[in-house]
Amino acid sequence: MSQSRAWMEVNLDYLQHNVEMIRSTISKKTNIMAVVKADAYGHGLEQTALSLFEAGVTNFAVATLDEAVQLRNLLPSTDILILGMTSPKEALTLSRLRLIQSVFSPTYTKALAIAAGKAGVNIQVEIKIDTGMNRMGYAYLDTIHLKEIFSYAYLHVHGIYSHLSVADSLDPIDVEMTNVQVSRFNQCLAQLKDYPYGKTHLQNSGGIINHSHLIYDFVRPGIMLFGIPSGEVKEIGLKPVLELKARISMIKTVPMNEWVGYGRTCKFATSRRIATVSIGYADGYPRAVSGKRAPILINGHFAKQVGNVCMDQLMIDITDIDGIKSGDQVVLIGTSHDKAISMDTIATLAQTITNDLACSLSLRVSRYYQSTSSKRDVEPVV
Ligand SMILES: *Cc1c(COP(=O)(O)O)cnc(C)c1O
Repeated sequence: MSQSRAWMEVNLDYLQHNVEMIRSTISKKTNIMAVVKADAYGHGLEQTALSLFEAGVTNFAVATLDEAVQLRNLLPSTDILILGMTSPKEALTLSRLRLIQSVFSPTYTKALAIAAGKAGVNIQVEIKIDTGMNRMGYAYLDTIHLKEIFSYAYLHVHGIYSHLSVADSLDPIDVEMTNVQVSRFNQCLAQLKDYPYGKTHLQNSGGIINHSHLIYDFVRPGIMLFGIPSGEVKEIGLKPVLELKARISMIKTVPMNEWVGYGRTCKFATSRRIATVSIGYADGYPRAVSGKRAPILINGHFAKQVGNVCMDQLMIDITDIDGIKSGDQVVLIGTSHDKAISMDTIATLAQTITNDLACSLSLRVSRYYQSTSSKRDVEPVV
């Protein structure tokens, strides 16, 4: 890290702390299914999944088959649910690696059942129900097709779930929509009560925090594991797991009326001290914050980002901050002394959400993992 130009520090103690916060929020009867899609929301699948497992999490969900294969190699004996579509041609892989595949439409389920039959393998599936988001899933009242799933010899139903679309909002109209989704899901379960549909789950992070009274077999936290729930959610003591840092690569005095950066978007009526920072949009620091005077922390002081964010670098105005030299660390997301910049602040300036920003952080950003509790080798943060 002493050499890195742009890096993230991932605090696995905080990840485990967040698991405890989730456990204290949900019913004792409910278990956690950790959603670690998109490389654990940009935090690195390997280290975070092992840390979650160490914290007692044994159920995981991912978006794709590749993510599931990667996770299976790390954790041989956990339940892994694939939330998205997997080609029926992969029936053998699904079966061999004991992955659980979501089935979300009569057409897809039939194709998967036929492929499993041809390969002569059994596949575990979970039924995805559409309760109003209108993305994926069987219509919640499509009882005929839902019952059909149980008739496929090579498919074994392991669970049933739905997804909430506005649970991260406390607006009464949104809360009402969530309540409608909950009642539709329950209606669906009631109609299948004579069928062995297995485990039930509904709540994402927003649903866990804002609708904590609901009781199903599992909850599916994603973004809240990383301490940065998006939207309008109650405070439950989560800690942000990731900090994003870079370095000052050079400092210069820019005379008055000179343009700073691409596109002739920024100049000053007085001369300024401008520092160049070794991170850009190719690293995942969003170009969309250009011109928004995004805060950046240096030695415990707030500087402002100026000009357009470049691919590999960005500029900050340090005119009012003394004692800065090239090589100094800069905090783009995280804390320095008693000051903090949240991922939500930067995501909001970029007109997006923390989920998007976190999983946009690129592999060019070095990753350092910090853990005091772990018996595993993790790279120390120095
Ligand atoms: C991504 C996802 C989650 C996790 O959502 P968060 O808002 O990040 O907690 C849960 N369930 C499904 C189906 C998802 O696609």
